[in-house]
Amino acid sequence: MSNTQELTSVNQDLNRAVIESMQAGGHEQVVHFHDQYTGLRAIVAIHNTWLGPALGGTRMWAYHNEQEALTDVLRLSRGMTYKAAITGLNLGGGKAVIIGDSRTQKSEALMRRFGKFVNGLAGRYITAEDVGVNTKDMEYISRETEHVTGLPEFLGGGGDPSPVTAYGVYLGMKASAKEVYGNDSLAGKKILVQGIGKVGQHLVDYLIQEGAVIYINDINQDNLLKLTQKHSGLKIADSATMFDLDIDIYAPCALGATINTESLEKLRCAIIAGAANNQLSDENIHGNLCTEKGILWAPDFLINAGGLINVSIELEGYNRETAMSSTENIYAAALNVFKIAKTENITTINAAKRLAELRLEEIGRIKLSY
Ligand code: NAD
Repeated sequence: MSNTQELTSVNQDLNRAVIESMQAGGHEQVVHFHDQYTGLRAIVAIHNTWLGPALGGTRMWAYHNEQEALTDVLRLSRGMTYKAAITGLNLGGGKAVIIGDSRTQKSEALMRRFGKFVNGLAGRYITAEDVGVNTKDMEYISRETEHVTGLPEFLGGGGDPSPVTAYGVYLGMKASAKEVYGNDSLAGKKILVQGIGKVGQHLVDYLIQEGAVIYINDINQDNLLKLTQKHSGLKIADSATMFDLDIDIYAPCALGATINTESLEKLRCAIIAGAANNQLSDENIHGNLCTEKGILWAPDFLINAGGLINVSIELEGYNRETAMSSTENIYAAALNVFKIAKTENITTINAAKRLAELRLEEIGRIKLSY
């Protein structure tokens, strides 16, 4: 086989894999971007636009290969559809990933080139921050496209959405405590926060105010050091043994899939409530396993919606009070999901998905009838 024939065959395999994944996940569109000059390699996945344009952050991560990045963006974009739907926003689900190390490979040129690509999607996808990407990057992107939110305040934006995300996660955790313990106080509760990045740090601030006993874990030693200097009494948990700790609540605030067969074998907490997207490695298997083990899992796409609420308000003219008060609805929404799960004897993820799908189907049908 010649080199050209080999390349054609690899490309055909990749195309087939992409189309099969899109069909399995119900995705509308997947776009790959490549720019030779800046080295940009990015993928945008648009999962669903029935409720409005797809909005979701851009993640910059050192994926090992294109396939790993594709799997991540497909999962993340689908989660955004559910997040917008259950939160009552008129937005669809989408997400972008840039393949690369954000600490060493990010530049103004790369971000602006990415902005140009986003602009080419003509508003079907609106971008914002995610892991490895910040408000400065949004500023660069905004030089090339208006389809960007999560802008710095001096550009009329709401700034970093993470504090609002953390507020929603905190309220979702309190609602979980109310469900499990009968009252929502977190005083004295032993809580493990994994990932003390933009969201995790703000979450720790709220938990400190409540008088919780806090364990923190991160692979970034600087983040650990900074937070222990800010708050005394924080305990550092080792990655190898943290799931053996005697804790009440586990708050995953790093990356996804940390709730898996291995971690659930060890975890003895009563509640899992955190910011990370796609926490369950497998929605069915690990959703059920949580229930079997008597762990209440607060659906991630419901309780981490504060950031999405924040950037969606920015699209209409930013107001922090509106963002915070809209985020407060997460408390009641979480209690409602727990009630449905209990009454119908289903997992919390299925209860939350059912609510989101109901809204999608209703609006989808209305749109189809035009
Ligand atoms: P971030 O990049 O600021 O922080 C992530 C932190 O997790 C970093 O400190 C990183 O070192 C740490 N980390 C990565 N891998 C780890 C591991 N294996 N073990 C321990 N720590 C690890 O990101 P963020 O904005 O704080 O977001 C955290 C999570 O919440 C992500 O999954 C993100 O998708 C999700 N989320 C964020 C927002 C938001 O507003 N920022 C909104 C919704 C969901």
